[in-house]
Amino acid sequence: MRLGIISALYEEQQGLVEAMQSPYKLIHGQREYWLGQLWEIDAVCVLSRIGKVAAAMTATTLVEKFGVTHILFTGVAGAGDKTVQVGDIVVAESLVQHDMDASPLFPRFEVPLTGLTHFPADHQLGTRLVDAAHLFLDSDFASAIDPLEKSVFGLSRPRIHRGLVASGDQFINDGEHINALNAALPGLVAVEMEGAAVAQVCYELGVPFGVIRTISDNANENAAHDFMRFVKSVAARYAFHIVRRFCLETEGAVIQSSRESAGV
Ligand code: SAH
Repeated sequence: MRLGIISALYEEQQGLVEAMQSPYKLIHGQREYWLGQLWEIDAVCVLSRIGKVAAAMTATTLVEKFGVTHILFTGVAGAGDKTVQVGDIVVAESLVQHDMDASPLFPRFEVPLTGLTHFPADHQLGTRLVDAAHLFLDSDFASAIDPLEKSVFGLSRPRIHRGLVASGDQFINDGEHINALNAALPGLVAVEMEGAAVAQVCYELGVPFGVIRTISDNANENAAHDFMRFVKSVAARYAFHIVRRFCLETEGAVIQSSRESAGV
């Protein structure tokens, strides 16, 4: 396994690069790719920057040039439903490009000539991410996040949601817009700007991928308020600890399955 880890914002990636063993940097297409080991897993960390094209370019390069076998996208997102709150964790079950609309030639949201509106994430990776998120909330959350930040952002008992994530080249900060998307996309849990692009690339290249997001805002008029503070003091910690739990768990599973196949 070689794991590609994409983050959209610098703060989200910083801790992971610092945690890498024997990191080695390669620059390609104006991005820095960090190669090394993360908790014994062979990994490549990269900052995609924001938006669907940036994310698609990064995912393609990870697969074609750096030979990753699996991709994880970690980042923040706006809540896509009233039941989803700031500080909650979302794991994508499937992803849709909410700004794709070639109607009346093709149905709304369908990516022309693929026949698909929704691109499924890898189920097994998603389950591992949910497990890692549970371990994070149960064992790390209390000590990993500053109490002041918890009270500023009203984080008490964060929850985990698995469902539909919608991506588009828009920062959504309009209550009417998010309500309309929620009505048009049943099962919506989060909106962001990259996941569905990675999903399409991974679908076309046959690479399993997962998307995990910390909810930073409600995608309404207050969405930009304290956004960077949340990313730095809360979301970056979530991403670091969840990826750590994910790698430790994956390493354990790899050792277990090689023991089993060796009959030990
Ligand atoms: N204010 C930031 C802009 C970040 S854009 C800056 O100055 O740098 C928002 C990033 O967070 C994107 O990577 C996107 O995937 C995610 N995101 C969080 N909330 C979002 C929302 N309400 N709508 C769309 N994307 C959102």
